[in-house]
Order: sequence, then structure tokens, then C-alpha cells
Amino acid sequence: MKIGIFGGTFNPIHYGHLRAAEEIAEKFLDRVIFVPTNITSNKNIDAEAHPQKRLEMAEIAIKGEPKFKVSDIEIQRGGFSYSYDTIIEFKKKYKNDDLYFITGADAFLGLKNWKNAEAILKTIDFIVAGRPKYGFKNLVKLIDFLPDKLKRDAEVDLKERKIVIDEKRAVYFLDTTKLDISSTAIRNNFKNNISNLFLLPNDVINYIIKNKLYESK
Ligand code: ATP
Ligand code: MG
Repeated sequence: MKIGIFGGTFNPIHYGHLRAAEEIAEKFLDRVIFVPTNITSNKNIDAEAHPQKRLEMAEIAIKGEPKFKVSDIEIQRGGFSYSYDTIIEFKKKYKNDDLYFITGADAFLGLKNWKNAEAILKTIDFIVAGRPKYGFKNLVKLIDFLPDKLKRDAEVDLKERKIVIDEKRAVYFLDTTKLDISSTAIRNNFKNNISNLFLLPNDVINYIIKNKLYESK
């Protein structure tokens, strides 16, 4: 089976995440597993809802879609969440499956700064979704965003829209529908009593209201 691991804070999960996952799954995968962080390593912790609540929102959002799953692997591990650790754990658990790591274009551009970035790219193939304001038309330019040690050998395959890292690994770019939706904007809307209808699933909106998640302090 081809499985995509979609890491993120998901604070909260929204249609930008869900639609990107849908289009990536349609083209590449049999299953997408959303993996909410415990503590996101490169974000301000204060801005985050409880991990358990972010996990529950993800579960609510994917209900009824059998190819989507949610994993609590990072929350169980505790502490700061590093994708490298998650990828190693998934590799052990899904020995006989093909694993991919999914990010949006903005996250891919920051990949160089992730813990063990080079090792990650040598361990798992990536699939990168489009995101407004983060174009990836020019794949040759994107090589610049790879960790320094990988740049020299990386090659662009324009036909397959991928950067080949080495004989085993590649980063695929899929021009998914660019939905200008972010969790930050959604949290701000909640704080300011601005409608979030149609930016994320209704059941998630209701959960947020019931649990008073993003009210102004
Ligand atoms: P925040 O505003 O809090 O950073 P976010 O909307 O960026 O939230 P994250 O949880 O940070 O959501 O993102 C998790 C992953 O989903 C990242 O790889 C990110 O690039 C991707 N992603 C987020 N929003 C979109 C979107 N609208 N379209 C495509 N990918 C997205
Ligand atoms: Mg983000």
C-alpha cells in the first residue's frame, strides 16, 4: 500500500489540508495519515490548543473518509515533535508499505531547518502540495531549498515534476488547488467573531465552539 504521512500542528485542521490530501491521494496514494504534533518544534507553543484537542478535531474532520486516518504517534511520544522520529517509527511499523511524507509548499521551503533534514530526505519520498503565495513552477530553483549536502547531486525531472535526490529518493510536486486558508486566519476569525463557515468542516467548527478553543482572553 502507498501511504502518505501528513504532519502538522492542525490547530485546527481545515479544508486547505483536507483538499491537498485528497488531490495527493487521488494521484499517488491509497491512504493518508494525518499526524498532529505534540509540541510543534518551530512554532510558538502559547498559540497552540491542547494536542489531544487538535487530534480530536482531525478525527472529526476525516470521519466517513476511509482512506484518511489520524495517528497519535507524536502525542504518545510526548515532548517536541520531530518529523524525523515519526518517519523512523512509521518505517518500522509499515515495513511492507511505500511511505511518503506530505507537506505544503511553505513547509517544504523551510525543510532545511528541520532536525535531520538531510537524513529525512534520504529516508522517505516527499510529496509537496501547492499553497497560495508559494509558487513552485521553477523546480530548478527549488533545489536551493534542499540541505546543502544534497544540492550537488539533486536533479530535476520536469516530466514527472520531481526533484531526484539520489537513486532511491525523490520529492514530487503536485499543483493542487490553492486554497488560501490557514489555521492562523481561522483562529483569528474565532477570536474576532468573524464567520469561519466553509473554511473547515462544520463538525470541527461546532467542536471548537463547544470547547471554547480560540476565544479571546
Ligand atoms: P498555521 O497558520 O497555524 O501555521 P497552517 O494552516 O499553516 O497553520 P499547519 O498545521 O501549520 O497549518 O500545516 C500543516 C501542513 O499543511 C504544512 O505542511 C502546511 O504547508 C500544509 N498546509 C497548511 N495549509 C495549507 C493549504 N491551505 N494548502 C496546502 N497545504 C497546506
Ligand atoms: Mg503553518
